[in-house]
Amino acid sequence: MSSDVPYVVFERASTVKPLGSAMAVGPSLLPVFEQLGIYEEFLTISNPADELAYYEENTKNFQTADHRPLEKIAGYGLRIVSRPVQHALFLKQIPAHKIHFGHRVLNITEENEKVIIHLANSETFEGDIVVGADGAYSAVRQRMYEKLKAKGELPQSDMEDLPFGYTCLVGQTEVLGAEDFPIVEDPKCQFNLVLGRERPLTVVTFNTAQKTICWMVIHYLSTKTSKAAVEQRFRNSENSEWGAYPAQTMCDETRDFPVQLGDGKERTLGDLYDRTPQHLISKVMLEEKVFETWHYGRTVLLGDACHKIHPASGQGGVTAMHDAIALANLLYALPSSSSSDITQIFEEYRSERFPIVTQTFKDALFAKKTIDKGIGGRLTLYLFTHMPYWLWKKVKKRKRLLPHEIMDVPSRSNEKGAVSLEVVINKKVYAAVSLRASTSTPGAYVRLALQESLRTGQVVPIVADKDSSGRIVGLVAGTSVAFGGRSTYNVAI
Ligand SMILES: Cc1cc2nc3c(=O)[nH]c(=O)nc-3n(C[C@H](O)[C@H](O)[C@H](O)COP(=O)(O)OP(=O)(O)OC[C@H]3O[C@@H](n4cnc5c(N)ncnc54)[C@H](O)[C@@H]3O)c2cc1C
Repeated sequence: MSSDVPYVVFERASTVKPLGSAMAVGPSLLPVFEQLGIYEEFLTISNPADELAYYEENTKNFQTADHRPLEKIAGYGLRIVSRPVQHALFLKQIPAHKIHFGHRVLNITEENEKVIIHLANSETFEGDIVVGADGAYSAVRQRMYEKLKAKGELPQSDMEDLPFGYTCLVGQTEVLGAEDFPIVEDPKCQFNLVLGRERPLTVVTFNTAQKTICWMVIHYLSTKTSKAAVEQRFRNSENSEWGAYPAQTMCDETRDFPVQLGDGKERTLGDLYDRTPQHLISKVMLEEKVFETWHYGRTVLLGDACHKIHPASGQGGVTAMHDAIALANLLYALPSSSSSDITQIFEEYRSERFPIVTQTFKDALFAKKTIDKGIGGRLTLYLFTHMPYWLWKKVKKRKRLLPHEIMDVPSRSNEKGAVSLEVVINKKVYAAVSLRASTSTPGAYVRLALQESLRTGQVVPIVADKDSSGRIVGLVAGTSVAFGGRSTYNVAI
């Protein structure tokens, strides 16, 4: 939903290249897609992935993870979408004039309650805040950290490099014919993973709604190789990007590795490489780190710029989008563009997101274990794929993947004298609060009221009267209940 906050995007690439493999999107994002009005289209460009099948290198299926309980718990299943196709859907939502391609940010300064970005082409632009969503080797983060370091305020862990122990080759084939590749006719995504027996490789394949196959090849590095690769990265910063980094050597080394495409035929990665345009194959590093410092002055970070999560759990992009939602909600409620108000919402944003991101990071470490070689990996995989439904439910609840995880995304409908914020999932309203028009209500109170609404199944009207401790009072089933919090929703009709 549009928040009407004015913005401009500066992207250093001159165009969007259709790079990458596939993404898994599930209950923690689909309700948001629904609110954005892109859910129906998303269904047409993605395939449901009910299962994740694990194969040995001899392509014998030895374990299957059933994703269906997720739909039972949260109302939405897991879907697989080609990353470039998903990207195109997002891009369509942004008016073309808002994006400046070929604009690389080099530096950021602040003066007179404004922030100024300095571009490589010597242009400058001024605004109230800068959001650094510029990836794992974020220039915005680096400039911010230089300032904090000079003041002696940068934590030690933020001075350390991004560690990585894996590299990854990703790509997507051209459109394939069903005669040679029957899998492309399957309306469900066959999400297949082949674990290397001797070789330090894991290969994942997905058939897409566009009749292509997305694939990724994860290569486990030895520590020594990893150190060398870090040095290499500094010599050639192109490595860290999704760009079409020359990956021919890795293709040559792995083309005889078996893949499983569900029709019993013996195939190898070479069959996929030969059907993938070479300039659309990328080699990327899989860094892993959560940075401590997410904002300074009028600059704030989101996504890979402040946390890089291993893709085994498929949560890197999802987490970046959740950051954007949380930040957009707070910006919508920003009382003024004064430095103190901006610092307050940035702090609130960081305290809301940091614990969840840290948990997601830990979950990815667990998911990574399921593809590790050796007995520990196999045991974790066995536990993961044999988890009973009741335990799934418990774990999912603990990880807050249920609808209330994203329920502070407001939808607003104007009624006479009141505004309602609703959580709408599958066209059903799960929770709603009603606010008096022309009032300012702390955002955290609204979230608590939504939780109360979710629990009771009733709309919670918020009355602007404060109790003796200055808290906002809502009516729950006719009883006054006080809510507490910090940021503010300004409601104007
Ligand atoms: C193999 C693999 C599989 C993955 N699978 C999944 C998955 O299934 N699900 C999932 O949720 N996530 C997945 N991810 C992770 C996901 O792709 C990333 O987490 C996500 O793209 C991060 O988004 P971002 O916007 O923070 O950064 P990026 O996608 O890196 O975007 C940063 C942008 O900033 C631009 N930029 C950089 N520097 C500058 C500058 N100085 N000035 C202007 N622009 C600049 C870059 O060109 C780029 O366009 C996967 C990652 C990998 C490697």
